Amino acid sequence: RKARQEERRGLPARTRDGHAVEIGANVNRPDQVPVALSQGAEGVGLMRTEFLFLERGDAPGEDEQFETYRAMLDALDGRPLIVRALDIGGDKQVPHLHLPHEENPFLGVRGARLLLRQPDLLEPQLRALYRAAKHAKPGALSIMFPMITTLTEVETLRAVCDRIRAELDAPAVPLGIMVEVPAAAVLADVLARHVDFFSIGTNDLTQYALAIDRQHPELAAEADSLHPAVLRLIRMTVEGAERHGRWVGVCGGIAGDPFGAALLTGLGVRELSMTPRDIPGVKDRLRDSSLTALHELAQRALACETAGAVRALDGGAAGEGG
Ligand code: PEP
Ligand code: MG
Repeated sequence: RKARQEERRGLPARTRDGHAVEIGANVNRPDQVPVALSQGAEGVGLMRTEFLFLERGDAPGEDEQFETYRAMLDALDGRPLIVRALDIGGDKQVPHLHLPHEENPFLGVRGARLLLRQPDLLEPQLRALYRAAKHAKPGALSIMFPMITTLTEVETLRAVCDRIRAELDAPAVPLGIMVEVPAAAVLADVLARHVDFFSIGTNDLTQYALAIDRQHPELAAEADSLHPAVLRLIRMTVEGAERHGRWVGVCGGIAGDPFGAALLTGLGVRELSMTPRDIPGVKDRLRDSSLTALHELAQRALACETAGAVRALDGGAAGEGG
């Protein structure tokens, strides 16, 4: 099986009945791109930019960020790159920013909430990104915002992007949001009108839907992204997006699980972004499946009452052939 995966990893993740799912890699640095491409990535679906801040003792300035984004685009040679604006707070603490201590940082000033309060973090990053867009193949670069909860956040962030784009006379860049707060999934049909795409962060969406700290030593194993409550939130997100002709991706850990990838595809997710080493197994599973069978699988999963019952539907790729 492994040998066959190696052989097929350069092929598209196209189901037997001809439905192609876009496969991205979660990659943070330009030097990681060649490995991702060799595993079969078709682009980068999540660049976590907080790593530019976490791996050092100070904040990278606008010019340094610009060079990094440009190097990512160069390494990808015209393939798509989705850069996530800084997601700091919660599990991603950056000591050198000296942010106020919070009793409950997962429910505090994190992600988009922090960006909106700290223009000194948001604006240099957006300027660097729009400068990079001038060098990019049209449409190759997209920007997305983490931890979006409300329409007001989306509108405000869009306005900042529009202003910076105009100041720099840069091309338009598709703007998306992470769906990782249940409120955003429930209001997906409202938010979809104001964004170009959604990328579901199932790690956080699961944490917030099930009220389980994703890093909890005892409970984290129960934070299953295939819990039927999470699947229904994903389905709502896809329905809301489809109503306005937007696409939905998933960049949380479950996208890299072959059964998870099959189920997400059946739920209408169009793009999956994952750790590079997970790509061959996911492609293999999708290529052995048919979209018709995956739709049926998704319907059965949505009707399940427990995460265990959803997991029990995994009969291997054979059950998804159709
Ligand atoms: C997620 O929450 O699923 C996600 C992709 O973002 P992160 O893991 O960086 O919080
Ligand atoms: Mg997240």
